[in-house]
Amino acid sequence: MSEYILKTKELSKKYKNDFALKKINVTIRKGEIYGFIGQNGAGKSTLLRLVTGLAFPSDGTIELFGNDSPNQLTEAQKRMGAVIENPALFPNMSAYENLEVHRLQKGIPGKDCIKNTLELVGLRDTGKKKVKNFSLGMKQRLGLAISLLSDPEFLILDEPTNGLDPMGIVELRELIKKLNQEKGLTVLISSHILSELHQLATCYGIIHKGRLLEELSAKELDEKCRQHLRIKVDNPPMGATVLENNLSTTNFEVMADGTIKLYNYLDDVREVSRTLTNNGLIIEHLSQTGDSLENYFSKLVGGVDHE
Ligand code: ATP
Repeated sequence: MSEYILKTKELSKKYKNDFALKKINVTIRKGEIYGFIGQNGAGKSTLLRLVTGLAFPSDGTIELFGNDSPNQLTEAQKRMGAVIENPALFPNMSAYENLEVHRLQKGIPGKDCIKNTLELVGLRDTGKKKVKNFSLGMKQRLGLAISLLSDPEFLILDEPTNGLDPMGIVELRELIKKLNQEKGLTVLISSHILSELHQLATCYGIIHKGRLLEELSAKELDEKCRQHLRIKVDNPPMGATVLENNLSTTNFEVMADGTIKLYNYLDDVREVSRTLTNNGLIIEHLSQTGDSLENYFSKLVGGVDHE
């Protein structure tokens, strides 16, 4: 079996004359939590709707669990759970009763799945409490429970943190982690706030105006946003030698333009400056830098215009 859960190739969606998605190539491997990040209107929901079969592509292909023919795709979609629009909740029913309605609709045999799913999402003790009296966080959990009833392998969540308070966001994050780690679920989760998915996503796709600007692992993102000293000296190779010999560090990189990124000595800039100067180097630039996640995102989407 393919290790890929989802692969889209040159996937496009056009509404009248406008592309909501243009030639998108997304790759999601088994076991990943894929954070799909983009501003409002970037095209996130459109991609999720295409993958779940709620809308159809104008061009390009979707491969799900290794299947890409229309019939196979419909079968493969049954192995997914999704919360895309507000799930249909019955306000005058309890969580259990809501799940029972959805179980019957989906034709899932046996009632055990209801208790197990309520337990999984932390709604086991809600008893007869009606959904209209649930907090937003509880409603989100119930929506998630509905999508988990059929024991999917791939979970798709469209902006599930919308409207949640910080505590609710933390709780949802922990729940998604648990589903990923304990049940081995692969997750695709969209958000317009990169930092909200930080420490949750294992990789990211950044979309802007219908184009996928970047796909990168969490490790690569952390590297890009890592705090460092940015050093420019008149003789970069010598600068590197001085750092190694006189400051006993190899925790730096020399970039193609000769800039040195030094990842330690952040609290001792003077020592770095003194050592470089004492070894005959001229310092052209020395500053502490490193993007915050949101800065990185803004720079990325601010720096392009694909219209
Ligand atoms: P948001 O966070 O605001 O939901 P999004 O990233 O999910 O944004 P989409 O909902 O995918 O963005 O919308 C992408 C673009 O496609 C937008 O310009 C939107 O107006 C347009 N669009 C989406 N659905 C339709 C539709 N059914 N008919 C016409 N245009 C549409």
